Amino acid sequence: MLFNELGLPQEIVRAVEEMGYEEATEIQAKAIPLLLEGKDVVGRSQTGTGKTAAFGLPAAAMIDPEGARRVQTLILCPTRELAMQASQELDKFSKYLPYVKTCAIYGGADIERQITQLKKGVNIVVGTPGRVMDHIRRHTLHLEELRMVILDEADEMLNMGFREDIEEILQYIPEERQTVLFSATMPPQIMAITGEYQRDPVVVGVEQKSRTVEKIAQFYYEVPMGRKTDALQMLLIAFEPKLSMIFCNTKAMVDELTENLVAKGFKAAGLHGDMKQQSRTQVLNAFKSGRLNILIATDVAARGIDVDDVDAVFNYDIPQDNEYYIHRIGRTGRAGRSGTAYTIVSGRKQVYELKEIARFTKADIIRCELPTRDDVIEKKTQHVLDKVKNYVETDKYPDGAELLERLTSLGLTAEQVAATLLGMRISKETRTVPEFIKPVFRPRDEKGRAKGNSCKIEISLGRQNRIAPNFVLGALVDATGMAGKNFGKIDIYDRYTTVEVPEEDCEHILDSMTGTKINGQKIKVKRYEGKSTDAKSGANRRNQDSEKDYRNFRRKNSGRARKFDGSQNKKRRSYN
Ligand code: ADP
Ligand code: MG
Repeated sequence: MLFNELGLPQEIVRAVEEMGYEEATEIQAKAIPLLLEGKDVVGRSQTGTGKTAAFGLPAAAMIDPEGARRVQTLILCPTRELAMQASQELDKFSKYLPYVKTCAIYGGADIERQITQLKKGVNIVVGTPGRVMDHIRRHTLHLEELRMVILDEADEMLNMGFREDIEEILQYIPEERQTVLFSATMPPQIMAITGEYQRDPVVVGVEQKSRTVEKIAQFYYEVPMGRKTDALQMLLIAFEPKLSMIFCNTKAMVDELTENLVAKGFKAAGLHGDMKQQSRTQVLNAFKSGRLNILIATDVAARGIDVDDVDAVFNYDIPQDNEYYIHRIGRTGRAGRSGTAYTIVSGRKQVYELKEIARFTKADIIRCELPTRDDVIEKKTQHVLDKVKNYVETDKYPDGAELLERLTSLGLTAEQVAATLLGMRISKETRTVPEFIKPVFRPRDEKGRAKGNSCKIEISLGRQNRIAPNFVLGALVDATGMAGKNFGKIDIYDRYTTVEVPEEDCEHILDSMTGTKINGQKIKVKRYEGKSTDAKSGANRRNQDSEKDYRNFRRKNSGRARKFDGSQNKKRRSYN
């Protein structure tokens, strides 16, 4: 749908076209006409689908020039960054409507300046709930003439505990108003607000085919407890993403990790709610311009941050909420680009949590082995050698010959000099590659029992039957009454599945599983005797599958900084 088909005034269509928008996104095409009609709207669509314009364009279009000195529209956003971002977008939308005046008000910034701005006469206010409340109480924000209120990222505002502020703000707004709510998710609390504060709302949603963006390749790495930082460092060095975002669950973790990475020489900075507004803005600008290439953030701080060319997202901590996973990885793969998401997990609990996320998001999160220190050093070395060869061939540094003479005249040979230079260069490149001892995973680690105490059972369903590890685990827990942590590695082959189980419980497990179903399909179980009839072909097929997927992924990402695949794809394993 084109913007001039939505009922927007020419001034706005022109501004939007100048911004480079060609067609309206789905949520925009659905919501804009309804908003222009004056309807209360609930809009649900994923991050990155253009919700700001979906409400911002009609908001600007509907400002009445007659009452231009009074606040007519209030937009509430969860964070300062989002408020700033939305108000900047609104300025662009209303470029050719000179009477539309927008003002952003948020905490952590000078309130007097905001008061001065408000006094000048603005008609659209974009703000965070806390600061908006503050201005209402100081009588520096008057809402008597308000005709439209928009809650952007409503789910996040509720998550952040803004419910009371929002409800109080709504009390100050005339009942004859248009109430609009946008959200990436629709938890019950949102529906409650909708029921209470909106009049006959029209719900517009954009159905998601797959819950995660298809262009994002997703991988995970299982590492021993306490080694996440090393693992992260290894991945950063190995894959060299140009711009990456790393997510932690707490502010303290953001600080700690930032300190760690900066000490190791990475151009990284943290972003979270406890930081002063000024430094948050500085960090964000540095990241957008590429002066910083690693941003470490909490979910809330990163919400909605609009940087288009993030090529990798790292989940240092597993997100506490399935939806968060989608939001996090949605920071990459934006604007039609491809991206990669890496999740680092420690311990079985986190593995299961991640599998739960994979199930919820209908995503393939593929297990990978970390590149080893030797792999990384070898690749870096090869890279340096290739470069040198290329430079020699193209005579890139013609002045070198003269410099070499200064050393050979002292009696050194050219070979000695060249070898030393190469050594210097390679040691510089590989200095920060962490030492990483290959992890050994044993089932039932928590109880400290050795691997010898476990055996394997074989279940007669495999990948051909479309089963997933969590189905198998669920069935085991159901049938045996044992806790999930008693079960070890689950390997799904084409036609069968093996599960590591405690030797002493094996008979009980076989008994209880006999005749049960997994995912609606009857199973047979037996003790796994080392090699199943299917074992060989199954395992081979599995490797081939992995290789093929991997090549497809590489093709999609060709030209990007994934240089360490050679050794890696041999080690890749299927999801287990
Ligand atoms: P959301 O709020 O849904 O997460 P945003 O409003 O932040 O999404 O928009 C995401 C990005 O898409 C922004 O960079 C925005 O400028 C861009 N965008 C929005 N609508 C369009 C469109 N119709 N065509 C092209 N780009 C768009
Ligand atoms: Mg948004």
